[in-house]
Amino acid sequence: MKQYYFIFNLSIFALANHSRKFILKIIMLKKGTKIYSVLRGKCPSCHKGDFFKHSFTMNLFKVNKIKKTCSYCDLKYMIEPAFYFGALYVSYGITVALCIVTFVISKLMLNVALLTSFITIFVVLILFIPVNLRLSRILWINMFVSYKP
Ligand SMILES: [Zn+2]
Repeated sequence: MKQYYFIFNLSIFALANHSRKFILKIIMLKKGTKIYSVLRGKCPSCHKGDFFKHSFTMNLFKVNKIKKTCSYCDLKYMIEPAFYFGALYVSYGITVALCIVTFVISKLMLNVALLTSFITIFVVLILFIPVNLRLSRILWINMFVSYKP
């Protein structure tokens, strides 16, 4: 019985992984959507130039550094002084969403103790700091700049 369960789990995982790759492929191929710019870290205006100075890293001093202008379309990424303060709101939203998802998975699905689930939330939030920093900034600029081919 245990073996069947294991094989079932494995097949579900393989299927989920396959469909995730397929969905990502469809989304990533569509230039002109905001998701393309967000997931690939590209300029929100031309979707060609890089938005961040460095590729994804866990180094907190490098991970959220943004280029001054786009290398293709010359869009100024700092639209106005202190433009990225607004990304704090996006970051807050991402943090709350992460907390809820982690709590639901740990407490309601895995049924661990309340303290353990809070510790899990804390660890997940720490681990997702680099992702959160990048995602909030690129989401914020995508709210104001649209794609111009
Ligand atoms: Zn550009």
